[in-house]
Amino acid sequence: MNYFIEVIIPLSLPKTFTYRVSETEYNFIKKGMRIAVPFGKNKIYTALVVDLHQNAPTLYEAKEIHQILDEKPIVNEFQINLWFWIASYYMCNVGDVYRGALPSALLLESETIISQRKETFVNETELSDDEFLVYEALQHQSSLKVQNIIDILNKKTILPVIQRLINKNIISLEEEIQEEYKPKLTRYIRLHENYSAEENLITLLDSLKSDKRKNLVLQYFQLQAQEQKPISVKQLTETAQTSTAIVKVLVEKGVFEEYYIQEDRVNFDKNKLDNQLSLSEAQQKAFTEIENIFIEKDVCLLHGVTSSGKTEIYTKLIENCIAEGKQVLYLLPEIALTTQLVGRLTQHFGNKVAVFHSKYSNNERVEVWNQVLNTSEKAQVVIGARSALFLPFSNLGLIIVDEEHEPTFKQQDPAPRYHARDSAIVLANAHQSKVLLGSATPSIETYYNATSGKFGLVSLKERFGKVQMPEIELVDLKDSYFRKKMKGHFSLTLIEQIIEAFTNNEQVILFQNRRGFSPVLECMTCGHVPQCPQCDVSLTYHKYKNQLRCHYCGYNMAKPSNCHVCSSVDLETKGFGTEQIELELAELFPNKNIKRMDQDTTRGKYSFEKIIDGFKNREIDVLVGTQMLAKGLDFDNVSLVGIMNADNMLYHPDFRAFERSYQMMTQVSGRSGRSEKRGKVIIQTYNPLHNVIQQVTNNDYEGMYKEQLYERKIYYYPPFYRLIKLTLKHRDFDKLKEGSMWLYQVLQQNLSIPVLGPEEPAISRIRNEYIRTIMIKIPSEVPLQSTKKTIQKVLNSFDVVPQYRTIKVTVNVDFY
Ligand code: ADP
Ligand code: ZN
Ligand code: ZN
Repeated sequence: MNYFIEVIIPLSLPKTFTYRVSETEYNFIKKGMRIAVPFGKNKIYTALVVDLHQNAPTLYEAKEIHQILDEKPIVNEFQINLWFWIASYYMCNVGDVYRGALPSALLLESETIISQRKETFVNETELSDDEFLVYEALQHQSSLKVQNIIDILNKKTILPVIQRLINKNIISLEEEIQEEYKPKLTRYIRLHENYSAEENLITLLDSLKSDKRKNLVLQYFQLQAQEQKPISVKQLTETAQTSTAIVKVLVEKGVFEEYYIQEDRVNFDKNKLDNQLSLSEAQQKAFTEIENIFIEKDVCLLHGVTSSGKTEIYTKLIENCIAEGKQVLYLLPEIALTTQLVGRLTQHFGNKVAVFHSKYSNNERVEVWNQVLNTSEKAQVVIGARSALFLPFSNLGLIIVDEEHEPTFKQQDPAPRYHARDSAIVLANAHQSKVLLGSATPSIETYYNATSGKFGLVSLKERFGKVQMPEIELVDLKDSYFRKKMKGHFSLTLIEQIIEAFTNNEQVILFQNRRGFSPVLECMTCGHVPQCPQCDVSLTYHKYKNQLRCHYCGYNMAKPSNCHVCSSVDLETKGFGTEQIELELAELFPNKNIKRMDQDTTRGKYSFEKIIDGFKNREIDVLVGTQMLAKGLDFDNVSLVGIMNADNMLYHPDFRAFERSYQMMTQVSGRSGRSEKRGKVIIQTYNPLHNVIQQVTNNDYEGMYKEQLYERKIYYYPPFYRLIKLTLKHRDFDKLKEGSMWLYQVLQQNLSIPVLGPEEPAISRIRNEYIRTIMIKIPSEVPLQSTKKTIQKVLNSFDVVPQYRTIKVTVNVDFY
């Protein structure tokens, strides 16, 4: 008898592969187990079993496997089905999905690089012989490839050895970020217990001679009464407007006691109060509506304005779901947001909350994977960014997609270019689970689905605690520049408001969307702007490093002192990014603590959290940032949000530009005034009458939606048309031009729907590769599956034209 297994190899290959196994192996192996298999020349890959059968392959001789890596499946059928769905819907290879879905520690292969974790203490006597040999080799070499280990151990079955060393924390795999975050300790103050009784207090006040000291003690009492939570030294000195020296004196005199708390513990205490609070009337109503909708529909949109307390509603739903013993997946656009959320959810659900974080080490990710796999209580609620969708859930009851409108839910590169929200709906369907999409500014597609009855719709129009929506004021930049009412990029109106916020001890957020508008160096004599030698973009000027950098390929050079074209020394910086705003602000307010939050300042594992912590603790006065600021952060002391320039978002060459501008401005504005006092927003713009700016100002989502929907209809865009974007790349300009024309024409002949292009995109060369794009628009009434089949056929025939073989083509379905 012949026995075979069908496996997925973690490479971009369109098929599954057949390997030969013995009868014993056949009886042991189950779908979802990993098997090390030889593939190509001398390479080993971690393949995944998707089927067992007795049919020999017809086109090739089936090879034998190396070894079985698992004792039981680590992937279940829900996952395998989802992978195949994604591969088919997003027109990629199932190997791409497999590769993207598994934490890389579970995907060892010959080229994987292994190094020692220096911080782990190793007891050599507890290592097996094989483990010891690997460990010893790492004492002489800083890293090893899997292939080296095969040589060292002189056998093929080495993956289990590596896996065990990983489990013991002795080794780690490449591309791990190792950064320790020491939780910030905040200095707090409390009255010595001797003074807790009222009569003692009066004696105390009498005994204090200096007014300043008396005032401080009184302020302490007032704060204590207001806040009913620990009072930090910083908060006290700020409110009392005194220096820490006086606090010190009072500590020395034994009036106050100092103590330190970790910031997350403080939230814990505060949330303890929240925990007893119940939903507001409006929240309760929304919650009941969602529950009723879930009786009939599987997907519901919660359209709740910023700060309406959507998280509290999610929490209630999660509560019910875990009470039924089911798993919950909570998807966030950016994992950076988790700090705040994890605090809030752990408060309710204790250690049932796990976080799946792309910035976590491999080992940590494997740990969560295993917890979910074993339906451990520790991971009954999983919070994660889009890739958390791929965890081995077996019993999902609810998926929450928070901030569902965020484009980061769509993976761009590499394949699979899937949309996590849309894929979540497919996954939920398999589990017969419910999906709640939440947003203050839903995507046009989702709102269309919700108003056309495909999804349920629940609106929550008031902020929690009856806080008012922020007041939005427009500043006309044209007028302000003309009347010289500007300092750098700051209008006098904005400066006045910032001063007012400072006077009230309140914090400020300034938003500068850097995309498409970065500072460049321009020659004032000949107008030359230095370009990246490998990409079709201007280099961006970074003042701190005194460098010019390319944001696409990382190319950089020291800032030149004269123009490379005309040698003039008259060079000026044009345009502005967050960095320049930060610098201008520092000049305007030299005594204030200003921090910047953008891609450059948030690279490390906890760098984002550090900034957020600092801002939350009120150590930072102004936060300057990019769209990262627009993602659901909750601060209670921000009374002013400034949008530095609304126009550069509006004029992005993209059919979603107006929708995105509305979303971004509304979301950033929503960070203002989240407690009792009404917040203020200043939008600086050259187009105060622009419809989108007006819609933001009037909080008119419906107006924006109707207008955009109309545009989408007449210009053939989603939700009326599905977009498939093909991107072609090659170093040879002429070959690319010819090839893309060929592809365009053949598509055109084979499809009776709009095919547009081939177009040279705004940035038409990156890393020395030229780029062309072709856009296919599929009307919603045209069958999708057969259209994709035709497209795939054309792509396959393109692939076999000898002169075009080297042109790379990527397919982006539901292009975002
Ligand atoms: P959203 O996500 O809708 O912008 P949040 O869920 O962040 O709003 O809520 C805004 C603020 O209101 C948070 O600080 C939250 O703790 C508070 N809040 C919302 N609902 C409640 C509630 N039912 N009880 C106590 N506090 C609440
Ligand atoms: Zn010049
Ligand atoms: Zn470049």
